[in-house]
Amino acid sequence: MFETELPRFLDPRKLCDGQQTITGYVELSMLTGFCSYLQSDQGKVSVELHFARDNAHRPIITGHTSVKNVQISCQRCLDAIGIDIIGDMNVAIVLNEEQADKLPAEYDPWLLEDKKLDMRELVDHEMILNIPIVAYHSDCEVAVEYGSKETVQEKPNPFKGLEALLQKD
Ligand SMILES: [Zn+2]
Repeated sequence: MFETELPRFLDPRKLCDGQQTITGYVELSMLTGFCSYLQSDQGKVSVELHFARDNAHRPIITGHTSVKNVQISCQRCLDAIGIDIIGDMNVAIVLNEEQADKLPAEYDPWLLEDKKLDMRELVDHEMILNIPIVAYHSDCEVAVEYGSKETVQEKPNPFKGLEALLQKD
């Protein structure tokens, strides 16, 4: 785990021209999109990214974003299950849709707005892309269907209030 928190905004052009590597972490709770898939927002995502330019002079970001023991919902019992997620980034920074369309298939386009690279958005996006489609415990049972006895019993009777009103006169 890296010691330093990544700055929220970086200047990607400067980093790519200088062929810089950055390392650090992003708090899970800052990644609102990714957290919407999780049962807990406690933890940190480790980030190691290399900025460079490819042969066509495109600004490129490669590297890894990873998180250990993140809590997602088991698709069988719906309880939390801890998994590791690793994102393998291969992004080309583009300034418009036209540039994005022309990219070789190996790159994921990242549309840069306002010249600044929002690290939270970039890492958030990368982590969401790498959530496993199916995750479940090796030994659990299927959750009770929604609308089981418990939930029905807890429902208040919608006619109770009405009954009281009618009895007043
Ligand atoms: Zn389970």
